[in-house]
Amino acid sequence: MVQTQDIIQMTEQYGAPNYHPLPIVIAEAEGVWVKDPEGNRYMDMLSAYSAVNQGHRHPKIIQALKDQADRVTLTSRAFHNDQLGPFYRKISEFTNKDMILPMNTGAEAVETAVKAMRRWAYEVKGVQKDQAEIIACEGNFHGRTMTAVSLSSEQEYQRGFGPMLPGIKLIPYGDIDALKKAITPNTAGFLIEPIQGEAGINIPPEGFLKEAYDYCKEQKVLFVADEIQAGLCRSGKRFACDWDNVEPDMYILGKALGGGVFPISCVAANEEVLGVFTPGSHGSTFGGNPLACAVSVASIEVLEDEKLADRSLELGNYFQNKLKEIKNPLIKEVRGRGLFIGVELHEAARPYCEQLKEKGLLCKETHETVIRFAPPLIISEDDLNWAIEQITDVLSV
Ligand code: PLP
Repeated sequence: MVQTQDIIQMTEQYGAPNYHPLPIVIAEAEGVWVKDPEGNRYMDMLSAYSAVNQGHRHPKIIQALKDQADRVTLTSRAFHNDQLGPFYRKISEFTNKDMILPMNTGAEAVETAVKAMRRWAYEVKGVQKDQAEIIACEGNFHGRTMTAVSLSSEQEYQRGFGPMLPGIKLIPYGDIDALKKAITPNTAGFLIEPIQGEAGINIPPEGFLKEAYDYCKEQKVLFVADEIQAGLCRSGKRFACDWDNVEPDMYILGKALGGGVFPISCVAANEEVLGVFTPGSHGSTFGGNPLACAVSVASIEVLEDEKLADRSLELGNYFQNKLKEIKNPLIKEVRGRGLFIGVELHEAARPYCEQLKEKGLLCKETHETVIRFAPPLIISEDDLNWAIEQITDVLSV
């Protein structure tokens, strides 16, 4: 383990201590499998928080990366590039929205959505200057920038970083009455993860998304879905909002949009919303770069061609049922949609993640007591059965 220990030591010596990873170094990866420097193989059951839905180094996505790397990688938006238009068209078709605005990380796409909601409120809805409000949900995770942590209900995410962004209201997740009470004539938008990932795979009550969407429409409030983690086939449907047949006013996408190969994020909405941006009002040097766009088009094609939403739904139902069969009074609940599953325990989940790692299966606890299982959606039935054996072994009493 000399190499692993040396690498961890170096990483901890020079890196700011803002993460607490499991003590494993990943040096190689393919499909659902990763290897450490000593050649030990592990199954990836986290998929980089759903960024690797298409599997590690999917050949089609890597080919797109290589082909584009040989042509042009960055132009900035001072000039056009020949990959941006095809990317816009692809995402527009995939989301059924008129317009796309590309950024790089999820948090930047959330920033973009918040700016769009606010400007829409002033220019389209007619809210008085600087009075726009955004409603978000307790337990949310929208990233780590100042806007994203200002939206959070988690004090630890905000500690020492104040003052926070004003104009934000929080309601309990899935509480329609609270939403109705919170909306005022100044409300620009309601921002929601249709399934809360970091909070522990929380699913709203059935029908909530639809009711919330309808109420937002009635009150002229934008319904904005952060589908960065739950979208792009992860939950067994193209978008997690599809579970309630809701087409939000704006989608926020990231993670698997770049196939686990290159960072790219975006928001997608109709012209009434994204048309509020004017040259100079928003942007990013790398946003919409040709390398990211080429990778993203290939990444979406893989989701479509390999029918990964259907695959996630079918294998996810099977996986969830097997997890529910495990007898252990420490298991409080098994919940999820598609291959996006949380096992909530009555005690800390980390020791179980460490035991699973010893058995060759990588996953990560979230919110102390939940083990999240989210393998790449291309996982084979044999590999999934192997994972179920290891999990049953570790979780059974
Ligand atoms: N929104 C959701 C729902 C997420 O799960 C995440 C990341 O986990 C983000 C936003 C932030 O994305 P990024 O880490 O790419 O900034």
